[in-house]
Amino acid sequence: MVTRRRFLYTAAAGAAVLSRVPGVRAATYDLIVRGGRVIDPSLSIDAVRDVAVAGGRIAAIEENIKADAAETIDARGKLVLPGLVDIHSHAARSKEGPPLALLDGVTAWLDAGSYGADNIDQGAAIAKGGPSLGRLLINIARTGITPNGELHDLSKVDVDLARGAIARNRDVVIGIKARLSNAVADINDLEALRRAQEAAAPFGLPVMIHIGQSYSPMRAILPLLKRGDIVTHVYAPAPNGILDDNGRIFPEVFAARRRGVLFDFGNGVVDHFNWDVVERSLKQGFAPDTFSTDWNTQSRTTGVIDFPNVMSKFLMFGMPLDQVIARATVNAARAFEAFSDRGTLNVGAPADIAVLELRDGSFEFLDNYKGTRTGHQRLFPVATVVGGKKAPERA
Ligand SMILES: [Zn+2]
Repeated sequence: MVTRRRFLYTAAAGAAVLSRVPGVRAATYDLIVRGGRVIDPSLSIDAVRDVAVAGGRIAAIEENIKADAAETIDARGKLVLPGLVDIHSHAARSKEGPPLALLDGVTAWLDAGSYGADNIDQGAAIAKGGPSLGRLLINIARTGITPNGELHDLSKVDVDLARGAIARNRDVVIGIKARLSNAVADINDLEALRRAQEAAAPFGLPVMIHIGQSYSPMRAILPLLKRGDIVTHVYAPAPNGILDDNGRIFPEVFAARRRGVLFDFGNGVVDHFNWDVVERSLKQGFAPDTFSTDWNTQSRTTGVIDFPNVMSKFLMFGMPLDQVIARATVNAARAFEAFSDRGTLNVGAPADIAVLELRDGSFEFLDNYKGTRTGHQRLFPVATVVGGKKAPERA
């Protein structure tokens, strides 16, 4: 749990990098992505390279690969990244979710709490249905997410039922979700979190909490989190976000980060962030460890739009491109063991690749309060490779 959590803002990845799988001859590959600017923070690469794929895995990253391939993607003028890893999604709500997210470059996703013990099997079936790598956080409420708030009635927050559902779905359930905002939990926030930890403990799983507008303050919530747990909607506005009344980040927030609690962006639609909290937090040196969308099949028409759009919001705030990419690839992959071979183009890794375009221009971005800001660069999805195969392109 400890050693695999090496994040890019602390140190560049020092893993040995092979440029070619030993024994794979430069003859014919299944697929070559040619001529793109390859940016992979896990390998500290930012250079124009060809990426060759064979047998569903990355086979080579080199300049001007001479060999042929059954299929070619012309990526000249584009960015070639590891497939995006979205650790706060709701892609498992319908079978249309995963293929739709794939069009945006999302090759691995985590459905964060759509389902609870009563209905997790439905989500598990979608996660196992492909085409991308899908996993689930089980909601600590047996109902999963409900419109009126699933944690108002603590009789629905049943530790034994959650444990049973996890045991039945160990292959796809990789953690527990608890939504702690007032509208969902009211005065039950801390008790719901305690029960989530109790359910997680026998399996050694992380808990993801959703914060913002909670009954209890952050300084009461954060001590209940362990190393590897995740706080999503990190920039949720008051009451009870990460900022005090003077806009300063609570010391307990930095302390939680120091002991290994992770902080995730979680774009969402309503009440999860505003520009002011983002700006104040970034100025105090508190960037999210990971980016995520809180995506669902309706997100095209909200301020989420797609994962590359969410990433672009941080380009607007001046975060360097490779750091933006790290938070949507390697950092996200390292947050969960199940994604540990993703978020990288390292030779031998599963061949999940996102081809994006970085366009200059004037782009309007939206927070969750109808606040708009204008940025001058925007990432757009162009093509996706998943498991070594080219996915359909977005229309
Ligand atoms: Zn969510």
